[in-house]
Amino acid sequence: MPLNIPNIREQFPILESVIYGKPLAYFDNAATMHKPRRVVNKVTEVYEKLNSNIHRGVHYLSNQATTAYEEARQKVQLFINATHSHEVIFTSGATGAINLLANSFGESYMKPGDEIIISTMEHHSNIVPWQMMCKRRKAVLKVIPINKNGELILEEFDKLLSPKTKLVAVSYVSNALGTINPIAELTQKAHANGSLIMVDAAQAVQHIKVDVQALDLDFMVFSGHKIYGPTGTGVLYGKEKLLNEMEPWQGGGEMIKTVTFEETTYNELPFKFEAGTPNIAGCIGLGEAIDFVSELGLENIQSYEDELLDYATKEFLKIPGMRIIGTADNKASVISFLVNNIHPFDMGTMLDKMGLAVRTGHHCAQPIMDFFGIPGTLRASFAVYNTKDEIDRLVQGISKVTQMFG
Ligand code: PMP
Repeated sequence: MPLNIPNIREQFPILESVIYGKPLAYFDNAATMHKPRRVVNKVTEVYEKLNSNIHRGVHYLSNQATTAYEEARQKVQLFINATHSHEVIFTSGATGAINLLANSFGESYMKPGDEIIISTMEHHSNIVPWQMMCKRRKAVLKVIPINKNGELILEEFDKLLSPKTKLVAVSYVSNALGTINPIAELTQKAHANGSLIMVDAAQAVQHIKVDVQALDLDFMVFSGHKIYGPTGTGVLYGKEKLLNEMEPWQGGGEMIKTVTFEETTYNELPFKFEAGTPNIAGCIGLGEAIDFVSELGLENIQSYEDELLDYATKEFLKIPGMRIIGTADNKASVISFLVNNIHPFDMGTMLDKMGLAVRTGHHCAQPIMDFFGIPGTLRASFAVYNTKDEIDRLVQGISKVTQMFG
């Protein structure tokens, strides 16, 4: 079903911003997305009408806040099609979720010499926590290489799998290249090898349906702020059995059943992994963001964004000297690029003066930049509120800067 884009844009007050006298055209959606008014209002409403700590209170407001928070968890459960809502652990973001997993999983399952496989195209937050864990547990980190289009080399993945592989941790969609990885195939191969899989869906859930049961994922993480929700929110999904087996990472209030100085027993799921007071208003706001996405329909969002990606790719390639980094067959709405030998920072700064917000740099994916032998790229990433007119402005802006650099 075609989406009513002008109507969608009206729901995002920030899109009315004027930057250096020019209307804002925001192409930094892979870094963070804007929030529709209903999400902002929901967070305000929580603080104005519901504010109270959750789970521990007998009083009215505490019960109301607890209900809203747990409803948000159920919204996430339905959105990712988890079997149980207690398989959804609220975290501070994808980074928080991966650190939780790296610590709990490492502590519970990894022995010296065990292996974990990641890929060359991971965001630093799906590299560094595993490196730290490997150091602590004397485990070995292995890396799936990529080809020059920015796709995983699957034959190399096959060779890396071994009886010692405990976990495969890969991104669904690369934030720096836009590549959509063949998660079903990777999962099937990991499972056939007796290994578990964790999918970093930080760049996926806002563009494509991620059904954890259909894909048979063991763990999956994402960030709320990249799916039209508040910052400081995120999710770790894990299969009930695995989460039950795993040691908690952080200790504190809420995650315990009983505490004495001799011994502590832990609470049941999901509370075992949610020590301390969580981001109550943020998580309820994330529930509202999920409603926003679900009401538009992810398939509608995806087909509109695919249209924007195709259009932008075609128009970008008309610019002399344009080099797109990341040319996988299967891509989400992210274009990383360089033009001639213009430094991305220079180009980005000049585009900014035209009201065109793009990201420049290594995009927290330095191994990708090393692979391509470049210091960084410019990146334009699209959300459902972007338009072809904005893309035309961006193409004109890039052309103008290119001409200025001769
Ligand atoms: N993984 C990927 C693929 C990402 O793009 C990002 C954010 N750019 C993260 C993880 C980390 O997300 P956050 O900073 O929200 O925790």
